Amino acid sequence: MRIIVQKFGGTSVASPEVRELVLRKIEKARSQGYSPVVVVSAMGRQGAPYATDTLIGVAKTANKNIAAHELDQIMYCGEMISAVVMAGTLQAAGMDAVMLTGGHAGIITDTNFTDARILKVDPTRINSLLKQGKVPVVCGFQGMTTEYEFTTLGRGGSDTTASALGAALNAELVEIYTDVDGIMTADPRIVDNPKILECISYGEVCQLAHQGAKVIHPRAVEIAMQKNIPLVVKSTFTDAAGTLITNIAKEDPDGAEVIDRVATGVTYLTNIVQIKVHLDDSMGGDASFKVFKTMADNGISVDLINIHPGQIMFTINAEHAEQASMKLRQQGYEIAVLENCAKVSVVGGGMREVPGVMASFIEALSSNRIVILQTVDSHTSISVLVPRSDVGAAVQALHEKFGLSN
Ligand code: ADP
Ligand code: ASP
Ligand code: MG
Repeated sequence: MRIIVQKFGGTSVASPEVRELVLRKIEKARSQGYSPVVVVSAMGRQGAPYATDTLIGVAKTANKNIAAHELDQIMYCGEMISAVVMAGTLQAAGMDAVMLTGGHAGIITDTNFTDARILKVDPTRINSLLKQGKVPVVCGFQGMTTEYEFTTLGRGGSDTTASALGAALNAELVEIYTDVDGIMTADPRIVDNPKILECISYGEVCQLAHQGAKVIHPRAVEIAMQKNIPLVVKSTFTDAAGTLITNIAKEDPDGAEVIDRVATGVTYLTNIVQIKVHLDDSMGGDASFKVFKTMADNGISVDLINIHPGQIMFTINAEHAEQASMKLRQQGYEIAVLENCAKVSVVGGGMREVPGVMASFIEALSSNRIVILQTVDSHTSISVLVPRSDVGAAVQALHEKFGLSN
């Protein structure tokens, strides 16, 4: 049996008209000899009645800090509604479609409500439906604990469902259908002229996704990579070929990846706060260790870390800023907090050891009078912290400088 997983995002299932387009994509896969497993997200984006953000809003009218366990029970509903509607649409077209929750589809998770990790996938039920010629329509984003509690897989987690099912079913291909023609060199919402990437390696797309390109969930890529299952990101609304994600990077004799582009894309993350901690000799040798230990003990992840004699700089997500400042001040640290920052990154598997990459990066920003608050680099990315108000200009400037514009 040739299994294909076809995942349709929120905008792809938002109205009867677009659900007809989904139907055609499924019919096409069947006509090509595939047995499709369909995965759906909640219908529409913020403002739509059953979108995930709308459901979160409903819960938060009762309590802004409602517990993650309860939040999951309402977030779960969006995909339930969507999968019922999609299964009904397929049935109306004569397909033997069967709606399955994440738990029914065999997705077992830990108990980390709202951001649960998949522990295992038991594909028995889906395999049996496929053998009977049925079309499983699975709720994305959902899992179930071993105690039969509902969980969700983190925002954007329907991609993870698709990939995990693809891996468990040994699918030939996982298709991620969305509202853009593929993975682009930058978010088309903030850059005028991005290019579509025809193919990209698992490693590169993971980097792009972790650094903010929300077009695919990084965990979905990691799971597909483990089993070498090809992923294609493509549009529900067009017939464009989309972006193929595979292990395209070849190994050279020295073991280094060969990719002929220096930069693959430019990404951004907003809602970032920079914290500067002043250190002096009276604090003892382990003062910097204690700063990071305090963050770790409070479950706050840190990024963009620079350690200098007398000062530590790092960034955190804005939602943790109040707690982090309070804890550090309680311990006697003198700190400066800068709110409303954004992290902009140029990502590229080919940038290692290429001279002048950092110089180009700085030139692009300074010639546009963008203030650089902090930088950090690795073999495959350079990131900079800028004021949030400059994020659009910074992404556009870097996109042009690295020759990514169409
Ligand atoms: P879905 O609901 O289909 O999962 P998402 O909103 O999660 O859709 O992802 C698609 C969106 O990702 C696009 O509308 C686009 O604005 C955004 N995006 C961000 N970065 C990129 C990028 N590098 N390439 C393509 N799309 C991107
Ligand atoms: N509906 C969920 C969300 O909005 C999952 C997804 O769309 O992938 O985060
Ligand atoms: Mg998504």
